Amino acid sequence: MSYKKTINVALIGNPNTGKTSLFNELTGLNQKVGNYPGVTVDKKEGHSKLQSNLKAIITDLPGTYSINPTSLDETIVLKTLLNSKSEKTPDVIVVVADVENLKRNLLLFSQIKDLEIPTILAINMADQMKRKGITIDLKLLKKELSNEVVLLSVRKDPDQGIKEVKKAIIKTYNSAKAFPLCNVNNRIDPAYFDRLKEINPKYSIYELWLMITQNSFPDKISEDEKKALLTFKNDSKNLKKYQHKETIYRYQKINEILKKTYLADRSKATDLRAKLDKVFTHKIFGYILFFTVLLLIFQSIFDWASLPMDLIDTVFANLSSYVNKTMPAGVLNNLISEGIIPGIGGIIIFIPQIAILFLFISLLEETGYMSRVVFLMDKIMRRFGMSGKSVIPLISGTACAIPAVMATRNISGWKERLITILVTPFTTCSARLPVYAIIIALIIPDKKIFGIFNLQGLTLLSLYILGFITAIIAAIILHKTLKIKNTSFFVVEMPDYKLPSLKNVFFDVIEKTKAFVFGAGKIILSISIVLWFLASNGPQAYTDVEKNIIEKTVSQEITEVKLNQMIASAKLENSYIGIMGKSIEPLIKPLGYDWKIGIALISSFAAREVFVGTLATIYSVESDDDDITTIKQRMASEVNPETNTKRFNFPVGMSLLVFYAFAMQCMATLAIVKRETKSWKWPLIQFVGMGVLAYICSFVVFQTLS
Ligand code: GDP
Ligand code: MG
Repeated sequence: MSYKKTINVALIGNPNTGKTSLFNELTGLNQKVGNYPGVTVDKKEGHSKLQSNLKAIITDLPGTYSINPTSLDETIVLKTLLNSKSEKTPDVIVVVADVENLKRNLLLFSQIKDLEIPTILAINMADQMKRKGITIDLKLLKKELSNEVVLLSVRKDPDQGIKEVKKAIIKTYNSAKAFPLCNVNNRIDPAYFDRLKEINPKYSIYELWLMITQNSFPDKISEDEKKALLTFKNDSKNLKKYQHKETIYRYQKINEILKKTYLADRSKATDLRAKLDKVFTHKIFGYILFFTVLLLIFQSIFDWASLPMDLIDTVFANLSSYVNKTMPAGVLNNLISEGIIPGIGGIIIFIPQIAILFLFISLLEETGYMSRVVFLMDKIMRRFGMSGKSVIPLISGTACAIPAVMATRNISGWKERLITILVTPFTTCSARLPVYAIIIALIIPDKKIFGIFNLQGLTLLSLYILGFITAIIAAIILHKTLKIKNTSFFVVEMPDYKLPSLKNVFFDVIEKTKAFVFGAGKIILSISIVLWFLASNGPQAYTDVEKNIIEKTVSQEITEVKLNQMIASAKLENSYIGIMGKSIEPLIKPLGYDWKIGIALISSFAAREVFVGTLATIYSVESDDDDITTIKQRMASEVNPETNTKRFNFPVGMSLLVFYAFAMQCMATLAIVKRETKSWKWPLIQFVGMGVLAYICSFVVFQTLS
């Protein structure tokens, strides 16, 4: 046969699918292959022999995601396609797809098919399938697409791939007509598209649709035809709506087909991501790694937050005394310097810890690691009636239960979410730390065991563990007793690993910190003011209290500082809170506490950290030695008059530690729980339940130890 024919073949596809590589193999030319966009900026042409009597001019087009162009590169592709009824335009199009992103690639394929141009689908990078755990039913895919499909790897096995691509091109060229894949027009509004078709039957419906939506026309179209088409553009409302429907329908169709023919089974993959996944979700290493990460996070929280926290503490203390000295004495002075400023300080002081904690959580989420943790922990957490996602709130609870309760919002099952909310306050929040620190210092000797472990540190660690274990036990009990139907089942999206976006992390931290300041801050502030009122007012006039003290001490020689401390202490004793403390003494005596501890307990029902400050005020008068100034020393020298031994001995200290570990002494958390559960029922249950537990456990501890 001497007759030789030349056809046009265009390579189209998403960027980086291997079009240029395929072009080079087909033509023997050497185009620059680059894995960054914009390398193939214009179309390049080359010759390829398909058969002895059939030659092809191959065109390598720039990468494009769809034929709705958003860049110059993509406009070139659209222009080429719309001119397909002229001579130099493609007889056959090869859509080059990348096997890993087949779904996205098929969108472009479906659009090109609808232009009714003969097309073959070349799925490249087959060599990656094993590593990524991908399998394709090629035969069924061909059938579903009613199209030639070639699976190849240009890089690993070019010869075989090229042979098959050539075969498919010839076959497609010879088989007469091309059919649309999606028939979007019938799905959207058949009447509308029939009218469109009537205007110009020369073009396919989809071509006409592209002309009006993309405002791009074939070179050969006449002015009259163009004008008639443009009338459709005036109906911009339908145009937008139909374009939207078109995309939705295309993806529906693609999903349908891929569901039957394409499987990406991550558990069979062997790539780096799969290897990392295996380590991160490993039955042993996964946990070891996670707890190491947690340990590092806690370490950094305490290391980094202590400096700004001390700073905030000092600033507010100074501000308080400054206002107290400069403002005219009176109720307003006291309200501001003793109520409002310490109240605001009590909110601000938590910001460093909360911000640092959420910085880490946000980083872990952004990198993709957190999803692996959620996956890893889900198996365990399910047993306790929670979900893998409960891990984040439970960890956050170590900074503050308020943001932790807010962080339960992404738990999908209501029962799991409720249980997480209810048990989170058991985790050791930072407000417990000052209480723990001082009591541990009083009752646990500062010595090392086995030469490395500090006994006091170990005690603190056991209190953290106690908090977690109690949370877990409480969750199991709630899981068994709560009669709530659970509808959620576990689906975790495992995103790819990536470097965190600092912008996302930054805004995440800002938002969560703001949620704390404005969500809990208001409540903390108002309760501080109420407490201030109860602590600085009493049924007896304070001037009388003051006079009594002065009269009692006139004969003694004491410093002015000492006198003021004694007055403050007497005032507190005679305040409403003081009276409450005294009246609960019979109730708390079995736990080893006297009315002074009672006062501290009541005032710390609003916020635990108040405990230390209150005791400091009460004990200010007890010692006669002027050298003893720190709170710890004052507490250490406090004597129980009934037994003549130290008040803060081992049994009392342990009983207090247990009480603070279990009791729900945080009004702000209760308020947040009310907001999140939309009822007072749950915070009430929480308050009573935790209180009863604290009482019983402290009772048992004190009675067995003493
Ligand atoms: P284009 O943007 O579509 O023109 O794609 P290129 O031909 O420039 O190729 C993009 C990247 O994919 C290059 O780094 C190629 O080496 C690589 N590549 C091409 N074909 C294959 C293949 O079959 N397997 C693998 N693993 N990589 C390939
Ligand atoms: Mg290229």
